[in-house]
Amino acid sequence: MQVLKFGGTSVGSPERIKEVARLIDDGKPKIVVLSAMSGTTNALVEISNYLYKKNFDAASEKISALEQKYFTVVDELLSTEKYKALGNDLIKGHFGYIRSFVRDMFTMYEEKEILAQGEQISTALMNYYLQESGRHSDLISALNFMRIDKNGEPDDYYIRENINRELRQLGDYYLVITQGFICRNTMGKVDNLQRGGSDYSASIIGAAVDAEEIQIWTDIDGMHTNDPRVVDHTHAIAELSFDEAAELAYFGAKILHPTCVVPAKLANIPVRIKNTLEPSAAGTIIKKDVPKVPIRAIAAKDGITAIKIKSDRMLMAHGFLRKVFEIFETYETSIDMVTTSEVGVSVTIDNTKNLEPILSELRKYGTVEAEGDYVIVCVVGDLSAQVNGIAAVVLTAMKNIPIRMISYGGSNYNISMLVKSEYKKQALQDLSKNIFKEF
Ligand code: ASP
Ligand code: MG
Repeated sequence: MQVLKFGGTSVGSPERIKEVARLIDDGKPKIVVLSAMSGTTNALVEISNYLYKKNFDAASEKISALEQKYFTVVDELLSTEKYKALGNDLIKGHFGYIRSFVRDMFTMYEEKEILAQGEQISTALMNYYLQESGRHSDLISALNFMRIDKNGEPDDYYIRENINRELRQLGDYYLVITQGFICRNTMGKVDNLQRGGSDYSASIIGAAVDAEEIQIWTDIDGMHTNDPRVVDHTHAIAELSFDEAAELAYFGAKILHPTCVVPAKLANIPVRIKNTLEPSAAGTIIKKDVPKVPIRAIAAKDGITAIKIKSDRMLMAHGFLRKVFEIFETYETSIDMVTTSEVGVSVTIDNTKNLEPILSELRKYGTVEAEGDYVIVCVVGDLSAQVNGIAAVVLTAMKNIPIRMISYGGSNYNISMLVKSEYKKQALQDLSKNIFKEF
């Protein structure tokens, strides 16, 4: 069986939903994981923010505007009186529920309930459309099988047991529609897998049903050799390994959610990235064994803050790094890059929510400098494919750009360099120009 995930833009309008229905109706049974229609989750976040601030008028206005949008979608998507009525009732039900939160008490539990509405609506509409157009489809609720544990990690055993039970109950199934992103937590409350988490859902589901392939359908024809918005002449990478894909997703390539690769990798299920707008294009396949190439792609991650901690008296002292890292752990802030010298350490972070308390605690151990507006430029490949000369080529390509930090050897799969954002474009272009002609 295959698991296919379609993102927000792929189901972003009635026409696109109809297109997806055509695409999935190819005679093979499959599980179809959908995001909310594009713009919806952002709108629901906005509504929640108004509710946190008790700005009930603005929240109500935004709720009504979004509801109206969905009545139009129903009208254009469904054609018979019966299904139009079902669609309108569906929208009224979900928006009535959202309105029930326009009241004083608003916490993150209520917010998560609100955020979960987008995927529930998109999947129900898709299911109605499939049925109205005579296709055999079933809708199963991710809230019945998708669960995270107390660390926010998928509860694999629970998910496997429950999704397979749901499938068995359907008996003879063909197109099974379910929601990405949404889940329950250990208390049974509605939760989610973080923004962009539908890719992760698809990968978790693929692993739980022993899928032969997981497909992520998006609006670009695969993972590219460089950022196509910044650099000309990039092209889709035909194949890459799980490890390379994970590095690329983490360090910038926006198409895949960084955690998405993990369940597929553990279960050794290939992940194919496909373009809804160009279904015949080959896309990118991510799998275990691919021919090694030294450099596969280049990516950049924006919004990075560099922090340097110089210890004035701890020359050779042990335990310094532990103390530094513990501070980041306390504030649940993950570190992307690390470089060390005898007297100090530089790290980068992208989440600056707790920057101030982190800095003030770090100051107990030395002189601290923090500076934002950096990007991590990352070269990804299988560096063990050709040990000699890769670093030289990469650094030569960067010869006109001031580099603040370099990380090499953390894994076999990437060289990362920290540069000021103003140099991002030049760095990506110079790397592309010089690297791909060498390797
Ligand atoms: N709808 C969610 C979001 O916008 C999840 C997803 O699309 O992957 O973040
Ligand atoms: Mg996405």
